[in-house]
Amino acid sequence: MTYKVDRARDILRRSKSVVVLTGAGISAESGVPTFRDAGGLWRNHRPEDLATPLAFDRDPVLVWQWYHERRRRVAECHPNGAHVALAEWAVARRPNVRIVTQNVDGLHARAAGLIATPGDRPNSAALPVELHGSLFRIRCTSCGARHQQTPEVESIPTIPHCRECDAPCRPDVIWFGEPLDDVLLADAIRAARAADACLVVGTSAVVYPAASIALITKRRGGALIEVNPEPTPLSALADVSVRATAVDAVPRLVG
Ligand code: NAD
Ligand code: ZN
Repeated sequence: MTYKVDRARDILRRSKSVVVLTGAGISAESGVPTFRDAGGLWRNHRPEDLATPLAFDRDPVLVWQWYHERRRRVAECHPNGAHVALAEWAVARRPNVRIVTQNVDGLHARAAGLIATPGDRPNSAALPVELHGSLFRIRCTSCGARHQQTPEVESIPTIPHCRECDAPCRPDVIWFGEPLDDVLLADAIRAARAADACLVVGTSAVVYPAASIALITKRRGGALIEVNPEPTPLSALADVSVRATAVDAVPRLVG
């Protein structure tokens, strides 16, 4: 284990440019459940049955109740040592570290806000590409306007309405079966192409195209480093697989 951490750390140190791909596992130690955990079921509904356009058409109140509850849970959580270590590293090595996340919990962005940035180093280098959107933003189903949503959840959760046109809003997240935002995806692909190493943390790597970010760097001859207590479809391709939790491994890799 120590040997693997040392090897991975060495690869990252020698890399000119690194893309970091994170998934729900990086937030597990902050108390945010992953979908595939036992706690991934909500009132007998699977996420696959709620996070879809069809579910929203059929029962928007039910879908909103689930999102209100997720938002409340996440608002009570805090960025952990892995989020903070990545944020500090991205600022220290800016602009050569790019964080791309599948998470919608906003914890990478909150970690960026927590770190001290001496001198003229703006912490924007630590802001992630949020490929799947955010629990803290809503989007109008009619005019498409996006609005921030406060962490506080109303006592009677209702469907929020657009401040501009009053139409109902939906969570500004990517649902199963929906395409990703072109601009964000292009940004992530550009970072993956430019990188000579990809650090993958806490993703089961089964959701595409997010998982392809790691493959792009690897196919172009870059190194692939994985941090995950469990093997994933990427493990066989990885130059180093660190079988540890994010909080255990990430600060040792990039700190
Ligand atoms: P996933 O639930 O499919 O997989 C989580 C992975 O994290 C697993 O491989 C697991 O072994 C690993 N893991 C668990 N604990 C870990 C730890 N402490 N340290 C490191 N790794 C750990 O998650 P995914 O691959 O991100 O895909 C799920 C989809 O669901 C994504 O599209 C995402 O948008 C969404 N989702 C997001 C959140 C969030 O924002 N925090 C939570 C649940 C689901
Ligand atoms: Zn509107």
